Amino acid sequence: MSLSVKIFVALVASVVVGLIAGPNSLGFVNWWIAPIGTIFINLIKMMIVPVVFTSLVVGMTSLGDTKKLGRIGIKTVALYLFTTAIAIIIGFGVAGIGHPGVGLSLASDAAVTAKEAPSIMQVFVDMVPKNPVDSMAKAQILPIIIFALFTGVGIIKVGGERAQLLMKVFDALAEVCYKIIGIIMELAPIGVFCLLLPVVCKNGPKVLLPLLSVIACVAIGCVIHAVAVYSTLSRLWGGHSPLAFFKGVSEAMMLAFTTCSSSGTLPVTMKNCQENLGVSREVSSFVLPLGATINMDGTALYMGVCALFIANVFGIDLTMSQMGMIVLTGTLASIGTAGVPGAGFIMLAMVVQTVGLPMEGLALVAGIDRVLDMCRTCLNVTGDAAVSVVVDHTERKYQNAA
Ligand code: ASP
Repeated sequence: MSLSVKIFVALVASVVVGLIAGPNSLGFVNWWIAPIGTIFINLIKMMIVPVVFTSLVVGMTSLGDTKKLGRIGIKTVALYLFTTAIAIIIGFGVAGIGHPGVGLSLASDAAVTAKEAPSIMQVFVDMVPKNPVDSMAKAQILPIIIFALFTGVGIIKVGGERAQLLMKVFDALAEVCYKIIGIIMELAPIGVFCLLLPVVCKNGPKVLLPLLSVIACVAIGCVIHAVAVYSTLSRLWGGHSPLAFFKGVSEAMMLAFTTCSSSGTLPVTMKNCQENLGVSREVSSFVLPLGATINMDGTALYMGVCALFIANVFGIDLTMSQMGMIVLTGTLASIGTAGVPGAGFIMLAMVVQTVGLPMEGLALVAGIDRVLDMCRTCLNVTGDAAVSVVVDHTERKYQNAA
């Protein structure tokens, strides 16, 4: 049985056992079962700082080549960041209309009230770490991200053999983090069961519907983003009709949907873009691997939906500045999300922590994460292809004009 099936079975088991056991068993469950769930959440928290730091440094250093490619690099990164930010906003919009989780109203031990909103200037001031070690100790994600970005730029500037060495070291460290996360995720079926059982015992069957609404919101959001953003990009600046674009990239989309890995899909994305959409080798070999590393529109959209879902479930009203924070951290988190199955979930934990939402909400998402991963990875890959088409088309125009 694959891990995602096991996690799903754990979700179903927690619902069945919870419904049978009912509120009377809450004392036993809270004493013996809930702490195991807390241990699982702590294990995930344990990895947030190391994985964010190392994978963002790797993401930044993989931009090293942009110097060579100059204009293409800037255009690509700007488009990636722009489409990612739009994706989160679409996620908010869909979740704002769909209200996933509203009415479930779980209570949490964590801070259930929205934090006092800091002013926007204060957010920027707090983003810059006075002491990165202190920020790491306190798991303050934004300052860690800023420090990681600077570290990446520093490494690129050092250049030569020493930079290569450091890039290898960070790459290896990020890989170690992903291996550890892999081990932790092996425990996810137990963790999810132990986290959800108390919730179901206490709240009964009303926990089920909200999960379906999250899946619907992510799926609908992905379709809206693809149709609105990628169709527009490919028609206006990509030289392809939306239909031709989606048809051209359909193999990669299917593969992404089934494998949940942008990195694993990369060879097919490159083939589709080159053979079906006429993207040059030069552009596709730069834009697409970079996209599989740093461009995750689907993951960003999922973060928007899930953050609102968790806030709804725990009856928290997100302030505008918290939403702004989610857009900012979500966009940056997507840079650090590896193109492998389930990576976005860990980054969601980071966003949830940064905004001060209850981490228990993650257990609900974990049970259905595989389905969400299928949708978001499909969008991630399509987004890479859309940007490659735009960069290729505009470059050709530029060269013809020159
Ligand atoms: N599975 C996604 C991808 O490979 C990343 C994620 O988990 O969001 O693109």
